[in-house]
Amino acid sequence: MPKPSSRISGITPSGKDGWEVHFAAWQRKEAGEDIIMLSVGDHDFHTPAETVEAGVAALRAGHHHYTQLPGIPALREAMARISTRCTGVETSAEQIIATPGGQASLYAAVQGVLDPGDHAIVVAPYYATYPGTFRAAGADFTVVETRATDGFQPDAKTIEAAVRPNTRAMLINTPNNPTGAVYSRKSLEGIADVCRRHDLWLLSDEVYWTLGGGEHLSPRALPGMAERTLVINSMSKSHGMTGWRLGWLTGPEELVALLISLNLVTTYGLTDFVSRAAIEALNNDYGVDQIAALYARRRKLFLNAVHGMNDVTVRGSEGGMYAMLDISAVEPDDEKFAWAFLENENVGVMPGSSFGDAAAGHIRISLCQPEPVLLEAAERLRRFVSAYR
Ligand code: PLP
Repeated sequence: MPKPSSRISGITPSGKDGWEVHFAAWQRKEAGEDIIMLSVGDHDFHTPAETVEAGVAALRAGHHHYTQLPGIPALREAMARISTRCTGVETSAEQIIATPGGQASLYAAVQGVLDPGDHAIVVAPYYATYPGTFRAAGADFTVVETRATDGFQPDAKTIEAAVRPNTRAMLINTPNNPTGAVYSRKSLEGIADVCRRHDLWLLSDEVYWTLGGGEHLSPRALPGMAERTLVINSMSKSHGMTGWRLGWLTGPEELVALLISLNLVTTYGLTDFVSRAAIEALNNDYGVDQIAALYARRRKLFLNAVHGMNDVTVRGSEGGMYAMLDISAVEPDDEKFAWAFLENENVGVMPGSSFGDAAAGHIRISLCQPEPVLLEAAERLRRFVSAYR
């Protein structure tokens, strides 16, 4: 075949993305083995019944057609209301663009603010798609690590040292995947200060904002930040709608107006009946409190079960759908640990180093399993760690 573009070939350059343990666990589970999957960030429960009913009703009512590119007006209005709540900044429908999932919003944000050759800063540990999203835009990026011993909180001085003359944007994620860290006001103020002084866009991935365990703080609310912050939101985690593919971006109206032309050439609008179901889900908060309470309970239960386990330390793990365990005292090579844990105890976890150097020596546990399964996984971990030599 003729040569594919270097941009597309470069999205996942090694062809490896750290998901090998997960796929091996998945294959064994599919083959009927008793594997506990703690490697994936998708809910173990279905979308709330009211949302499903709204989707079915929309299909029956004939909502089968093209939709407007930024999202149908009632959807943008509903999203703007949630953005006002999430970010603490009054938001209008014109500041919203709806996309098929948070990932598509991330893609739009990066395409919207970076030219090929521009430079961005990514705070690590980060969600696995971030590097590829920058590469797809032909942009260059520097990964700035946080420290496990700081609970994975970002440090403004370290970030500022990575700013170059062609740096145009910074990407952060709070509550964080994979660490579960919820960035403190001090951390966010430091980040905002760097962005203001160096005239940077801040891309703020807040898809876990309802799962932070307390009042959510968005950097968009900090002085001078609304005009330079693009917030990424999603129905996937907060509303239990991963497979429906619906998210949105909140930003300055002028940029949002430009991004509408990106939708023209990529998605050409959204799925009609999914949009109608989402309006109901957003306007009625279907599932939001229940899902938040469920993950808070699971986190507490699992971390309690791990607490006091020899040589295992919890880091970050305040919000989101994950817990981060420092296993370096048992085995410094987290990938080796994850493979051996799967082999010996039939539990699939993610090696921390798949998310950047800061999380090396850690494993990421997804809390997307019922409580008895999480307790059983903790027991298997205890057995594995005490037998590991
Ligand atoms: N951002 C983060 C931090 C995530 O963890 C995910 C999914 O796991 C996404 C964005 C993308 O979510 P979606 O495209 O399902 O909205």
